[in-house]
Amino acid sequence: MTVNEAIKKVLFIEIIKGLALTLKHFFTPAVTRQYPLEKREPFPGSRGLNALVRDPQTGKEKCVGCGLCAAMCPSQCIHIYTSEGDDHKKIVDRYEIEVLRCVFCGLCVEACPFGAVALTEHYEYSGFTREEFYYTKERLLDNWDRYMAGDKGRIYFEKFWGPKASDFGMPVKVPSGQETKQ
Ligand code: SF4
Ligand code: SF4
Repeated sequence: MTVNEAIKKVLFIEIIKGLALTLKHFFTPAVTRQYPLEKREPFPGSRGLNALVRDPQTGKEKCVGCGLCAAMCPSQCIHIYTSEGDDHKKIVDRYEIEVLRCVFCGLCVEACPFGAVALTEHYEYSGFTREEFYYTKERLLDNWDRYMAGDKGRIYFEKFWGPKASDFGMPVKVPSGQETKQ
């Protein structure tokens, strides 16, 4: 043991330092927030309650029922049921998420080529039964209307989830017989 260490031990220097630090914090303002009275705005792009994007033009879901999001979901908590419409287009009859099983990884949002599913910034939700956390298509669309209305949804995708299929031009169809060999 060195002389310096011996002096520190005898004079309880480390203990005095610790007490001085505690004393200092008596007179500094507390950083604790009195939640729920005091709330902090969620960080933009933070991953909260799931939502299905409502297409402003049709007023319906943007989802085409391709199932990519469900295939990517590590929790297997997305359930999609589709049928064939009169014009042979796929109809999304049911789109459901078991939110209690969701781990908010964002893979579904990343996988969707149409920007049709989202994680909103809303994190304050609670309930007494499991059923309350089984979100149907209508409830998921409602989440979009509530938490991502207006420009918020557009900015969300532009800023945090690109590129999407809409960022790339569709290949131009050349009439048969007019192709040129390279
Ligand atoms: S955020 Fe992750 S866990 Fe939650 S539904 Fe999407 S893919 Fe599944
Ligand atoms: S990936 Fe997108 S379009 Fe396909 S089923 Fe999921 S939400 Fe719908």
